[in-house]
Amino acid sequence: MLQDIFLQGISASPGVAIGAAYVIDRNRISAVERPIDVDEVEAECRLFQEAVSRSRQQLQEVKNRVAEPRLAEHLHIIDTHLLILEDQMLVGETLSLIRAERINAEGALKRILQKFRAVFDSIEDEYLRERRSDVDSVGQRILRNLMGAAQQSLADVDRKAIVVAHDLSPADTMQMDKERIIGFITDVGGRTSHTAILARSLGIPAVVGLESATAKVRDGMPLIIDGSTGTVVLNPSPETFRDYLQKKQFYEYLQQELIFYRDLEAETLDGHRIVLQGNVELAEEVPAALREGAQGIGLYRTEFLYMNREDTPSEEDQLQAYKTIVERMAPHPVTIRTLDVGGDKLVSSIDLSDEANPAMGLRAVRFSLKEKHLFKTQLRAILRASAFGRARVLIPMITGVAEIVACKACIAEAKEELTAEGLAFDEHLQVGIMIETPSAAMIADLLAREVDFLSVGTNDLIQYCLAVDRGNEHVAYLYEPLHPAVLRALRMTCQAAREQGVEIGICGEMAADPLYALVLLGLGFQELSMNAPYISQVKRIIRQVRRQEAEELVLELLQLGTAPEVAARLEAEMHRRFPSLFEAPRAAGSPGKC
Ligand code: PEP
Ligand code: MG
Repeated sequence: MLQDIFLQGISASPGVAIGAAYVIDRNRISAVERPIDVDEVEAECRLFQEAVSRSRQQLQEVKNRVAEPRLAEHLHIIDTHLLILEDQMLVGETLSLIRAERINAEGALKRILQKFRAVFDSIEDEYLRERRSDVDSVGQRILRNLMGAAQQSLADVDRKAIVVAHDLSPADTMQMDKERIIGFITDVGGRTSHTAILARSLGIPAVVGLESATAKVRDGMPLIIDGSTGTVVLNPSPETFRDYLQKKQFYEYLQQELIFYRDLEAETLDGHRIVLQGNVELAEEVPAALREGAQGIGLYRTEFLYMNREDTPSEEDQLQAYKTIVERMAPHPVTIRTLDVGGDKLVSSIDLSDEANPAMGLRAVRFSLKEKHLFKTQLRAILRASAFGRARVLIPMITGVAEIVACKACIAEAKEELTAEGLAFDEHLQVGIMIETPSAAMIADLLAREVDFLSVGTNDLIQYCLAVDRGNEHVAYLYEPLHPAVLRALRMTCQAAREQGVEIGICGEMAADPLYALVLLGLGFQELSMNAPYISQVKRIIRQVRRQEAEELVLELLQLGTAPEVAARLEAEMHRRFPSLFEAPRAAGSPGKC
């Protein structure tokens, strides 16, 4: 038997699980289309309707059985599936097809599902494409009921196991008992699928998008999954097993230890407080941010709101989304970033012309200032949401003062309109900009005069500073967060913000990596915003150092000429200060690439 077969998928939920596979044989159901006689048509329609009502009943039962309080906030997903069961496109069209074409119910349903798939597959954005799985899983459920196939339920898993499935519906995930299901892997799916979000809420390690895991894994096969890196190992050798066992123990130890930090302030030994906030893309992520002790949302990426549809969201749609998050986070602030479309972020509802160099093209604020009606709609929604708590607006990819002046004019116009319409908003809504381009870092002093806060987007700042495409694996070796040019850009920005008396934060992935915590502290950042699971790790470091020592270390690092030299010096310092954190394998607990 071959050992150590490594598969690489998408990291959906962090943590390591080691155990035997429990393969869910869902993918194998195949409907066969056959013609029927005219006098069979109504009986076939009745069979189909019965299968639909059985599906409704099953979903209702799943909903009633959900006992895990962390899942209560996600029950709306089941409601969505119940709504799909009422959908005319799915149910009505299948019935029409049975009647019009005189084919059996399974065949008709199969054709309708294929039609849905073709429509969803042609959609470019990830979020909307993944909503296909909602329709798919409802369709599969009806099909199984129609064909009398058993609905293999995750509630039936009777041993400790790693579930392996082609796809898992949110209804499946909701039935997962953490005592028995220690992790799961799927062939399809992405990071923003409901199943992935639910896995993160439950704290179950998961890897999705493995493409052919179900074809390679047999029931009972020993498996390791590393949900932090998206790696799966089939039939691990004793050495691999030992390595991952160590990673698992370290990850669990860290999680336990970090619970202690959740409710504590991120305060240095010499009394300087840093505000640690969460980055979110969906309202569903807010409870996790609160649980991890986030003191606000430092980056709410609103692109996902635009991705979840074929048209652009109306002011009311946006208001509802922003208001939900602002209310849930109150009294903490929520930093709502205006649409950062373009570059590698494509949105199906917005048709960007083909550009030779999209990263440097019509992106972010440039697009907003070109399509002012869309920008104004978003600003009005943000302003109106500000009446329900503390909202701040953040403008991405600024390169010069003129852009801020133009944005502020749009904000002023939106305010005037709302006043004239008698709609409430926070008069003092704070306006901030992202520092993501070298030009913005170089003139941070001029930009800081215009706004209330600066937030550094290191993901893009590194890309533009070093001329390295952040998504291109061929030049990934040049993507160096500790490059002297990046450190100087960060220092310049911090100094400018401090001199101008505006708040300075960082919301790129650098903020989430504990290795950089001392550097960011020493440079003078006051707010660090990151994905919720990393907050406690960073807080632990901040609480164990003096800011003055961090400043001294930064001065030393700034003298070094290359990124590897800076990294070696920094790693040595972090190993010395935090042996338990940095000597154990880092992969299990560290964030993804910047
Ligand atoms: C960044 O560039 O660091 C950032 C936070 O923005 P995004 O990753 O969404 O481009
Ligand atoms: Mg960015």
